[in-house]
Amino acid sequence: MKPSHIEHIGIAVKNLDESVEFYEKVLGLQCYNIEEVKDQKVRTAFFQVGDTKIELLESTDPEGPISKYIEKKGEGMHHIAFAVENIEEKLRAAEQNGVRLIDKEPRKGAEGLDIAFLHPKSTHGVLTELCEDKSKNRINS
Ligand code: ZN
Repeated sequence: MKPSHIEHIGIAVKNLDESVEFYEKVLGLQCYNIEEVKDQKVRTAFFQVGDTKIELLESTDPEGPISKYIEKKGEGMHHIAFAVENIEEKLRAAEQNGVRLIDKEPRKGAEGLDIAFLHPKSTHGVLTELCEDKSKNRINS
């Protein structure tokens, strides 16, 4: 798989505005983007820390996956996302290694990235996201 870096860490929060304030005031980070991702029923806020981002996730729907997660486990770390190239290929490889996929095909996530989730039952309890910035590949190649 050989990810190039941890693209982001997703953190489930109850209140996006209060959480953004914590990251800005206490950690001294700057929120550079707030974005709603309709098909995941979340509002997200992003902070850059070196090569890695922090993605705060607030549910926009009581039936959404982040609401359900917080109900069960409370606020906290929700997933880790690895930056990969050729995401479709990497998904097939994971599947061939017996990993259960949540997304058989990549879909569009926040910031225009192509994303896909691996099931935490197959990844030792960590919801794992693969993501690829295809716009970046185009510029580089
Ligand atoms: Zn994510």
